[in-house]
Amino acid sequence: MCVGRFAPSPTGEMHLGNVLAALLSWLSVKQQGGEWRVRIENLDPQRSRQEFAVQILRDLEWLGLSWDGEVLYQSQRAEIYQHYLHQLADMTYPCTCTRNEILAAQAPHESDGRIVYPGTCRGKQLTISGKPAAIRLIVPGEVIEFEDRVYGRQAVNLATHCGDYILRRSDGVFAYQLAVVVDDALSGVTEIVRGRDLLLSAAQQLYLYRLLNFTPPTYSHHPLLVNEQGQRLCKRDKSLALSAMRHTHSSQEIIGLLAHSIGLTPAPTPITPEQLLPLFMWTNIPKNDVTMSAFEC
Ligand code: GLU
Ligand code: ZN
Repeated sequence: MCVGRFAPSPTGEMHLGNVLAALLSWLSVKQQGGEWRVRIENLDPQRSRQEFAVQILRDLEWLGLSWDGEVLYQSQRAEIYQHYLHQLADMTYPCTCTRNEILAAQAPHESDGRIVYPGTCRGKQLTISGKPAAIRLIVPGEVIEFEDRVYGRQAVNLATHCGDYILRRSDGVFAYQLAVVVDDALSGVTEIVRGRDLLLSAAQQLYLYRLLNFTPPTYSHHPLLVNEQGQRLCKRDKSLALSAMRHTHSSQEIIGLLAHSIGLTPAPTPITPEQLLPLFMWTNIPKNDVTMSAFEC
């Protein structure tokens, strides 16, 4: 059985970019007669809001993207994450570095915006009592390879890509990387469809699949929607927020616009997700990001 999912973070309203991720994963899995699950990634209590979660679910219903089974909320699953963190105890260590200490230790070639943890606390055998500590996973100096359905073969060296990465933050919040792997594996997710901003983090996730003895899923990352300045759509692009577009567009118009922008239809004709099913093909999905202007919409 093929199982896909949509895993939004309720830190803001849905915009067209989120709708694209939901639509593509729905199409891919429904075309194969599989199940589509929804999981609310509200691990971070500071940034997540219940109103956004409620709104996202309403938006999905309005769009005609119906899900199977119960909606999962990550905020209710801390004990499960703790159980798997415990299984990794031999490969993890506490870290008390501040962000500034980590930044100060960056090698010059790593200044492309990524933060690579230099391993300062590895082997220090800090005890967790006293200062709050994050828990980091020791990564191998090995290249993790995988095949992405859109972007092809990927090879990521975790040691130079991110270094030993966090599984639980110093404030006790479990990290996305651990939660996403545990949740996808326990839900039986077989294929992951999401934006290409998460392409390389698939390597961090695949390493966890291996350590936890879970069967890995397939990965299909899609190009991002960008505004006219070439920036990825985000909460600031208010005109492309779904709540704004719902006043002036039908759900079929929005699906039609997205389907056309991503190469599935010859024109932005209104269409339902169901009607798109026979037209959906991964081979038509472009690698390059897609510009959406408020004007076109
Ligand atoms: N919660 C993540 C986001 O909204 C997506 C995680 C995933 O699809 O793996 O960006
Ligand atoms: Zn440290």
